Amino acid sequence: ERAAEATAPLAPGALADGTPVPLLANLGSVDDVAEAVRLGAEGVGLFRTEFLFLGADVAPTVREQQVEYTRLLTAFPGRKVVVRVLDAGADKPLAFVNDAPEANPALGLRGIRALRQAEVILRDQLAALAAAAASTEAELQVMAPMIATVEETRYFVALAREQGIVVAGVMVETPSAALIADRVLAAADFASIGTNDLTQYTMAADRLLGTVAALQDPWHPAVLRLISEVGAAGVALGRPVGICGEAAADPLLAVVLVGLGATSLSMSPSALADVRASLRRFGADDARALARAALAAEDAAAARTAAQSLAAEIV
Ligand code: PEP
Ligand code: MG
Repeated sequence: ERAAEATAPLAPGALADGTPVPLLANLGSVDDVAEAVRLGAEGVGLFRTEFLFLGADVAPTVREQQVEYTRLLTAFPGRKVVVRVLDAGADKPLAFVNDAPEANPALGLRGIRALRQAEVILRDQLAALAAAAASTEAELQVMAPMIATVEETRYFVALAREQGIVVAGVMVETPSAALIADRVLAAADFASIGTNDLTQYTMAADRLLGTVAALQDPWHPAVLRLISEVGAAGVALGRPVGICGEAAADPLLAVVLVGLGATSLSMSPSALADVRASLRRFGADDARALARAALAAEDAAAARTAAQSLAAEIV
């Protein structure tokens, strides 16, 4: 029993019927890598790169970035490592990207929009990533934050390919990207759903504002419906659809997300063990049934309750 407990957290993510669901880590700096590996992360689903840029007066050089990315990639030989390019905005102002104040930073020049205004930053970052990948065994993938259009998708994927990066995808964080996921995914290698921002924009509720926190709930059927659009597009086009928002760290919601078409889940490493255990209690048919139950509910609380009741019947 003791031995089983000690080894179980390192088993790969899978449903009860053996369907693999890779469990990946969300990381905000290279210092968190060892802990993620210890907790059984099968790779990295979201490496946030803001730490390299925040607080700096000038952008880090290609060389400086390459050193950090090489440290990261070296820890995951043969594994997928998804790096998100800089997600700057008026809430995280960077003089060398965009320092114009905005009344609504969440709706402003952030993510891919800001990078396009400072394209040299994006080119340098992609070049540093490509150079780091060339010297390691990890499978580097890059993705862009705050994609809202097919045109932005094409722009980012073309620039990544130009820099020699093989796999380039997009984050689905806006309702727009989710609603046209079939066209967005046709232009990208994969999608990764950022449920924190997708929930914020779907519910029109600032994720940093306590007074509207109740609306910031990824169980809301409006959010789940958008996720199912992306999942269906991924299935139709044969493209992976990951989840990298906090929703993936909720053990039951994780199963629902797989039922909606998610092919991998990325989360804070501390959540890996509970999500791994939860996935093993349900088969793919169960996951789809749980997703249908949650989708049919009228609000977030009802969706959660519906999924909980059905889960209690299944296991
Ligand atoms: C998200 O929006 O869900 C996401 C993963 O990105 P961040 O939390 O860094 O905005
Ligand atoms: Mg986000």
